[in-house]
Amino acid sequence: MSPKHTQSTGFVWLIGAGPGASDLITVRALRVLQGAEAVVYDELANADLLKSAPANCELHSVGKRAGRHNATQDEINALLVSLAQAGKKVVRLKGGDPLVFGRAGEEIEALRAAGLPYEIVPGVTAATAAAAAAGLPLTHRDHSSAVVFVTGHQCAANTDAFDWHALAKLRATLCFYMGVRRLPEIARNLLAHGMPPATPLALISQATLPAQKITITRLDAAEKISPDGIVPPALVVIGDVVSLSDFATRVPALAAQGR
Ligand code: SAH
Repeated sequence: MSPKHTQSTGFVWLIGAGPGASDLITVRALRVLQGAEAVVYDELANADLLKSAPANCELHSVGKRAGRHNATQDEINALLVSLAQAGKKVVRLKGGDPLVFGRAGEEIEALRAAGLPYEIVPGVTAATAAAAAAGLPLTHRDHSSAVVFVTGHQCAANTDAFDWHALAKLRATLCFYMGVRRLPEIARNLLAHGMPPATPLALISQATLPAQKITITRLDAAEKISPDGIVPPALVVIGDVVSLSDFATRVPALAAQGR
């Protein structure tokens, strides 16, 4: 365990489980998991990882997925605090990286407020895993010098939270987490703010898992993708780098552009 942990006090490790495949967890996160006395885990974390926790470890599912919440964030915060206050070595196991759309910030605040020690172990986030799966570089000297992680969750049209103009004009690679259901809306907004219609778009579902699926199209054809046919979790990558994907060469609409 960490040098910060002493036997008498509880401690919380917020660890990234990685994007899906159970061997994409870090060595450090696995080591921490192997010493856990309590694990509080999300649905996105690969269930196989729980086998690495000791046999007598308490397991708490707080499964969260779009539209289905088993536990509220306040309940999760309270659970972490109470387990650590009971002196346990607590692992908070989160899909991907805990600090990317993982609400770890709120959990950290709760731990700080309770005066409890914690440590964060990073993980492979969905965007980098999905990019690797599709064989597309998130940055490229000739195509994109910035990457933006965007939540698709709150991007209803006309909300102030979103500067669509900035996103459309940035010439960056845009990675939309939780964006599949809002894909038509995302595409419409980017097009309305001047992103070129031929901009390639990749939809990567279940990256790194056996049922991984990669769909490549253009921004102006995104509305044709039916969300019903996509098994979550899925990530949308928009930007010229998508044309460099191993899969893009098979898309005639992109090839016709000379991309
Ligand atoms: N903390 C996580 C993200 C949590 S938000 C991370 O760093 O990856 C959940 C969203 O992540 C999903 O809606 C989806 O957009 C994305 N996601 C997570 N795992 C994924 C996977 N294996 N393939 C594609 N997208 C994934």
